[in-house]
Amino acid sequence: MLQDILDILELSYKNNWITARDGNISYKHDDKNQFLITPSGLRKQELKENQLVKIRITDNGWEQMTNQNLKPSGEIELHYNLMKNSSGERCVVHLHPTYTIAALYAGIDISNLSREFPELSRYTRIAPSVEEVEPISQELADRCVENLNIDENGECEYDIVAIDRHGVVAVDETPWKAFEHIERLEHICKIVLSAKWLPHQYS
Ligand SMILES: [Zn+2]
Repeated sequence: MLQDILDILELSYKNNWITARDGNISYKHDDKNQFLITPSGLRKQELKENQLVKIRITDNGWEQMTNQNLKPSGEIELHYNLMKNSSGERCVVHLHPTYTIAALYAGIDISNLSREFPELSRYTRIAPSVEEVEPISQELADRCVENLNIDENGECEYDIVAIDRHGVVAVDETPWKAFEHIERLEHICKIVLSAKWLPHQYS
């Protein structure tokens, strides 16, 4: 499972969905009180398993348990809030996929795309997008959690949320399942943006 996280970061870098130090992933096995998260600042396409940082969920927040020479991802509050009430396995993947961010920037309401593309709605539930907020902020964490609509048991109404001019956050049981939500949405956004330039739009 940990190798999957590293493989996803390498693939995301190759896809141009992150630059070297962007992106972050957290993973919680069925232990309710701890999870692993990618470290801050390191080149993500070269990350090693032993550089993942273990975090304990405490009564009033979180504390770092391992790799004290490294810092957890700057988006730790986002990951912590998505992990803290969930029981069972969970993975949170945050990337900057090109066409999805371009679609947002072009003013396309991507949460509505699933109505037009059944292959998207069949497997991926898209939350209302978050407006532009400061990266690495409590506000980003709060707005993503709010739009994913998490209940007190940690269950999400949606699988993925996009943040204007920034990226996406996907939640599922495993790294690859979460990644597939991002991949699916990115594919449709590429199609939609390509269609915008077809001649019939201007005839
Ligand atoms: Zn980001």
